[in-house]
Amino acid sequence: MSGDLVIVGARVRTLDPARPWASSVAIADGTVVAVGADDEVRAAAAAGSELVDGRGMAIVPGLTDSHSHPFLGALETRGADLAGAASVEQVRERLAAERRRCGGGECITGHSLEYRVFDVVEVSGELFAEAVGGNPALLTFFDFHTGVATPAALSLAGVDGARSLEGAGEVVCRADGLPTGELRESAIELVAVAMPEPTREQRLDLIAAALADMNRVGLTASHMMDGTLETPDECRTLEAGGRLTVRQVVPFTAHPSMNDDEVGAAIAAGAQAGRLWRSGWAKLFIDGVVEPGTAWLEQPDTAGRGMVPNWPDPDRYARVIARFAAAGFPSITHAIGDRGVRCALDAYRAAGQVARGPHRVEHIETMQDDQLPRFAAEGVVASQQAIHLQWMNPDHSDPWSRALGDERSRRGFRTAELRRSGAVLALGSDWPVAGYDPREGMAWARLRRRPGDSDAEAYNPEQRLTALEALEGYTTQAALAVADGEVAGRVAPGFRGDLTCFAGDPVECDADELPQLPVLMTVVDGRAVWRADDAG
Ligand SMILES: [Zn+2]
Repeated sequence: MSGDLVIVGARVRTLDPARPWASSVAIADGTVVAVGADDEVRAAAAAGSELVDGRGMAIVPGLTDSHSHPFLGALETRGADLAGAASVEQVRERLAAERRRCGGGECITGHSLEYRVFDVVEVSGELFAEAVGGNPALLTFFDFHTGVATPAALSLAGVDGARSLEGAGEVVCRADGLPTGELRESAIELVAVAMPEPTREQRLDLIAAALADMNRVGLTASHMMDGTLETPDECRTLEAGGRLTVRQVVPFTAHPSMNDDEVGAAIAAGAQAGRLWRSGWAKLFIDGVVEPGTAWLEQPDTAGRGMVPNWPDPDRYARVIARFAAAGFPSITHAIGDRGVRCALDAYRAAGQVARGPHRVEHIETMQDDQLPRFAAEGVVASQQAIHLQWMNPDHSDPWSRALGDERSRRGFRTAELRRSGAVLALGSDWPVAGYDPREGMAWARLRRRPGDSDAEAYNPEQRLTALEALEGYTTQAALAVADGEVAGRVAPGFRGDLTCFAGDPVECDADELPQLPVLMTVVDGRAVWRADDAG
């Protein structure tokens, strides 16, 4: 499916130090073959290449979302979108609308529920039972670390009381022993498995549609943050049908409940690859999230929580990482609390470097001073999602800041310090946790407040990135995060033919206006997977 394409008359910010600016780029068989002035590039172009008039186009290397759940997200964002619903009443209205949309008597799902809905009322599934007409309903919070099940969903799943679950997993129960409907971490799965599953065909259709939507906002690649033994096959099927329009790095997710044979099966499956995807990484969660107290902290949070890792035995977590490393798999660890960050860095140091790529730590929402220089010194990639600052208030009145208290909140999301320490800093969205639009992601990294709302205060403004650093987080730094520094992240000969073509330069564009900067064309592997002029 790779393509031959020549764009002339554009303004190309190459991010290649050897030639930072150009007006033209030629791609042959999916690879950039020439970058420079129009005449020289035209001369180098393959015969029969499609010629694109690039006047009015500001081109940058194809943008990568370094932390995304494109396949899982396509499934989990079925059902009612509860983002922005601020009260129980607003959630009920959206659930009732979803019930009307799917014609009544079915299981209802909802996603992107916000913690502030429960500022004045305890989390309970009964709150929503009537809005879904007594049907089973499972709602997930925006971070997918907490869920709420209605009484009908609990009984469908046979969950009638406390369960013993790994790590921070919990079926929250009242004093009488009956579940409230709140499900923490792995407890969500108890109810999720009882809800109806789409077929493989339906799954692939949902995924392909999500990838096409990502192309519309300029994404050409993502680092998937979940994956199973089946994911490589799904990539293969999508690619064969020309529907894998966003490149994927695919890790295998190792859960604490997996035994050594299950880990061994992932290693035996080995590193697989197609043209636009490759596997051979491991993903692990050392903790949960700050708001419900499941992030693993050096000191308890303001409610005395945060002392429990997601891997009940952190030594086993380290041994699994060492085993993957010995088999050539770099590890990617979700670590939000400072104790979790330390545990990940220590496990990586013990496991040693891996040729396929660097180890990574995802999120790093709070960390200690002595942990910060270790990223650069030990070659560990820092991966952050500045767009998650949308749930935090600079006056520390939000659930995240209240849980950590003022002192730790002042050290939240040390994005600029990480980057300027010399660490690789890859940026992403964690979609479906937050929207995947890279224009919004870059704007949040630059502003640390809502783009377009210039009266709003920034959260820890000293951690703002420059416009160029923000773009690099989605290009050159994203490439380094998966050892693609010699093939991706720049527009240069020999590099992948992935381009994002805007109507203006995203670095020069005011951050408040960046989310509205039009994407004119998105090119993956030399093929235009999205063109604004086709959209009409
Ligand atoms: Zn994630």
